[in-house]
Amino acid sequence: MSLTLADARVVTPEGIHDGWLAIEDGRITHVGHGRAPRAGHSLGGRYVVPGFVDIHNHGGAGGSFPTGDQDGARDAVELHRRHGTTTLVASLVTAAVADLEAAASSLADLCDDGLLAGLHFEGPYISGARCGAHDPALLREPSPREFERLVKAGRGHVRMLTIAPELPGALDTVRAARDHGVLAALGHSDATYEQTLDGIDAGASVATHLYNALPPLGHRSPGPVAALLQDERVTVELVNDGVHVHPAMLRLACSVAGPGRTALVTDAMSAAGMGDGDYELGALRVTVSGGVARLAEGGTIAGSTLTMDVAFRRSVTEVGLTLSEASVAASLTPARVLGLDAQIGSIAAGKTADLVVLTDELEVAGVMRRGAWLTEPR
Ligand SMILES: [Zn+2]
Repeated sequence: MSLTLADARVVTPEGIHDGWLAIEDGRITHVGHGRAPRAGHSLGGRYVVPGFVDIHNHGGAGGSFPTGDQDGARDAVELHRRHGTTTLVASLVTAAVADLEAAASSLADLCDDGLLAGLHFEGPYISGARCGAHDPALLREPSPREFERLVKAGRGHVRMLTIAPELPGALDTVRAARDHGVLAALGHSDATYEQTLDGIDAGASVATHLYNALPPLGHRSPGPVAALLQDERVTVELVNDGVHVHPAMLRLACSVAGPGRTALVTDAMSAAGMGDGDYELGALRVTVSGGVARLAEGGTIAGSTLTMDVAFRRSVTEVGLTLSEASVAASLTPARVLGLDAQIGSIAAGKTADLVVLTDELEVAGVMRRGAWLTEPR
């Protein structure tokens, strides 16, 4: 199966050029400049960017990963694929350990099938002071032993653990995660600047939705945000939906960390792609109004209804990134976090043909995954 995509504006980490792509057996075999040497599928001068990589996502289209329900998870993946996400890590939320094991074991089947790129445990080892939309009654003290049970349930597919480094046992659990090839992400934490550095020194390398569920930046108490933003070992997740973080703070994060350490994520929950109404996130009830998801009790922000195409577009229109920078933050950086950047995350010869075609207004016009159109641009 070979295919030529012609008349494209190709977005790479280096810049944008008019050109064409050759695709064979699901891979990009050539990235050309100018006119294609043979007739192909014309993209009519539209942009082509690498498929988006979402490393923090709880569901969509009514499906919720934390329940472990496979049909719902398939619906969620399908929704996010239509919005350009070709690689997706499913995030669970705080729950009883047995429930987490059951959900992880069920979703591991979908990882085996290649539908999901891995699993992320957001909780239960997080701070009661910063638990956001996690049930405080189910939070637990970090335990390497117990965490190993969760890793085992995921059958080699657990990719990330969000943990608060100030909790007793947290640093040992960060080290245990690292030993199992699981990324430790610091978040939902009330840590000081120094406690955060201890977590990074122990091996943590991701900041779970920077700013959200963390103490704010303070000039005499810089807290976790300053530590996570400035440390070269850390990639920061940002939820760019216009609700979670003010654009000025997104600009600040991007200017300090650069697109190479910034990963756009959705933190989407089951209401993504659905209307306003009542939903659930783990054990908690969530009300979505005007597209904003909040806990029914207390009104705390509870995930988002964001999709990666919107996060990408907003990072250009509201934050001021170039298309290349936005593409790095939406694809290459999260791919690198997952250790998949040799295969996906940018448009280059040899990489998997995961592509998104975008209009001048940066709306999705087509999505290709592994060389096959999921949505064919016309
Ligand atoms: Zn989340």
